[in-house]
Amino acid sequence: MPEFFDTIKGFGVTFRQMFRKVDTVEYPEVKRPTAPRFHGRHQLNRWPDGLEKCIGCELCAWACPADAIYVEGADNTAEERYSPGERYGRVYQINYLRCILCGLCIEACPTRALTMTNDYELADDSRESLIWTKEQLVVPLRPGMEAPPHPMRLGASEEDYYQLGAMLAASQAGSGERNPVEKGPVQDWPVQGRDGSARQGEVQ
Ligand code: SF4
Ligand code: SF4
Repeated sequence: MPEFFDTIKGFGVTFRQMFRKVDTVEYPEVKRPTAPRFHGRHQLNRWPDGLEKCIGCELCAWACPADAIYVEGADNTAEERYSPGERYGRVYQINYLRCILCGLCIEACPTRALTMTNDYELADDSRESLIWTKEQLVVPLRPGMEAPPHPMRLGASEEDYYQLGAMLAASQAGSGERNPVEKGPVQDWPVQGRDGSARQGEVQ
């Protein structure tokens, strides 16, 4: 007798589901927004004058448990400067065949150069196209930014640069309190899709 009721209970579960609202989304025509802190693909950020935040230190590559990041640093010179400070990331690659989107690399980055967006459309049918290069990962220039190489343009000293840079980035993000170097999230920073199209993404 108890076994008989188990069967009825099992059918009851199925029966209840028949009257529930369908939760299926017609992807890719319909796309649900992700959770705000969703770990999507990475991006490399810039300072407000357009210089790159990446200093080529390779800490992200060392932190990665999947060995998915390859970085080659190089020296900035007075004539050819890509980032503030001594070094910049000359080569930067992320292999999305290996990456498990765990976020350890962005935690390791000392300059908040590397952050993650909400972009999850990473599937492809060739291995080569899943190795994203620096050119694909670096955030597009915003109005008022100048494409590197160029000198540090924010203030007269290095101290000025970082203080003014943080303040300007905060005002660009629409919040007077936010310091992107220390706090990170910038809700509406434009990110670039693989095809070069602009997408909205959340930086974490
Ligand atoms: S998200 Fe994780 S697996 Fe992917 S590159 Fe960063 S550390 Fe490596
Ligand atoms: S992304 Fe950050 S951790 Fe990685 S090389 Fe650049 S500065 Fe260093």
